[in-house]
Amino acid sequence: MSIPTSTDVLIVGGGPAGALLGCLLARRGIEVLVVEKQQHLDRDFRGETLAAPSVVTLRKLGFGPALEQHGYLETRAVTMRMEGRQVLHVDYGRFGLDVLPIDIPQPALIGIFNEQSAGLPGYTYASGTGFTGLIEEDGVVRGAVLKRKDGERVTVRARLVVGADGRFSRVRKAAGITARITPMERDFLSFKLPRPAGWGNNAELVVEQGKHLVVLPTFPDFLRIGHNLPKRGLGELRKEGFDAFRAGIAAIDPRLEPLLTEHLRSWDDTGFLEIFTAEVDDWARDGLILIGDASHTCTPILGQGVNLAIQDTVCLAPVIARSLARGGAGSALPAAEFAEFVATRRKHKARVTRFQRLQEAALAMHTPLQTLLRRARFRTLDHLPLKYVVFGKVINAPHPVDAADLRTAGQESQAPLAA
Ligand SMILES: Cc1cc2nc3c(=O)[nH]c(=O)nc-3n(C[C@H](O)[C@H](O)[C@H](O)COP(=O)(O)OP(=O)(O)OC[C@H]3O[C@@H](n4cnc5c(N)ncnc54)[C@H](O)[C@@H]3O)c2cc1C
Repeated sequence: MSIPTSTDVLIVGGGPAGALLGCLLARRGIEVLVVEKQQHLDRDFRGETLAAPSVVTLRKLGFGPALEQHGYLETRAVTMRMEGRQVLHVDYGRFGLDVLPIDIPQPALIGIFNEQSAGLPGYTYASGTGFTGLIEEDGVVRGAVLKRKDGERVTVRARLVVGADGRFSRVRKAAGITARITPMERDFLSFKLPRPAGWGNNAELVVEQGKHLVVLPTFPDFLRIGHNLPKRGLGELRKEGFDAFRAGIAAIDPRLEPLLTEHLRSWDDTGFLEIFTAEVDDWARDGLILIGDASHTCTPILGQGVNLAIQDTVCLAPVIARSLARGGAGSALPAAEFAEFVATRRKHKARVTRFQRLQEAALAMHTPLQTLLRRARFRTLDHLPLKYVVFGKVINAPHPVDAADLRTAGQESQAPLAA
């Protein structure tokens, strides 16, 4: 398939942020090209959790029927157990949103966005097409150079290049935007196991001294397990052997032992995630903006990555539409047009990161005194209604987007309109 050599908006990266943005812009009748370096969407160990406000927003945008048709799993609560005792329980039904967070595999979610975009006038999706560099003129970004799977290089001019290319963003680097990378004390190894009947729908954090697991029921019938390792501890873990790894997991959560023996066969069944936060001061340059993980990378605590990517996208789409409509044909969108978007989103993401760092630090505690104090702290929080305020600010922050913009974008799912 050939790709256009000029477009209004070039989106680099077809993850949750890029795929949704492509759809929302095309619905507004904006010419958009989404390029994704992977040939296929298969990706097993990624964020699969959609927080309740994202579910509400996606329904308003008209994605509800497709989500229902695919199916998902509702998460009822998050529970924390430390050294065998429950210390915290947060009931997601108590947030008054009338909607629960859901788990849906990331390829399915992206597939829904892509299916709804396909066929919209002005929309092009190019898989197997990687970003290699920016086109700049007098300090203004005018497009990008792409490399197709067969090695062909294509130059695409655009009024806006969106870097939605994830935590190691090449667009960010090419734009000379520096990220402050803060490594967390742990990394993460994930795997999936079949979910036994009657397991329940609570997300669980199971902590044993300095080790912990997140155990997440997920769609259709799996448990997603994340195991935290000491930073750069993967080599050491592998040296000890796979049986020792499985035994270590079972020691943290003995309920998993029979599942591990039967279903977790080799390191190939696991996925590694390096945990760090990346913060960026300037998300925009003239002709360029970053969103999702490229603009701000979180840790997996409370599964906020996809939620934040969706928030960025629904807030940004109307800003781009208005800016394109205001500017002259062919002119690059000035960074100043994105200042308010960046300030609002950066503030929320910074809050999420602060909260996650506190939790990461608590989870890294391991001496007997530290773990005793940690349990006491979470048990105290558990008895306070304040816990719903604390968690709500992170997981249930309403999407700061104009209701009329959402309504318009939702209606446009039926009939595309001009910007
Ligand atoms: C291995 C892994 C495991 C994760 N696990 C969890 C988890 O358990 N819980 C959680 O909440 N979050 C997790 N996350 C984070 C979560 O998946 C992200 O926060 C979320 O997907 C962000 O969406 P995004 O669209 O901004 O970026 P991404 O989902 O990273 O999408 C970026 C896309 O850009 C493409 N791309 C990259 N470079 C180029 C290029 N040069 N040219 C063209 N395309 C390019 C990539 O192939 C990818 O499809 C994980 C992320 C990774 C990478």
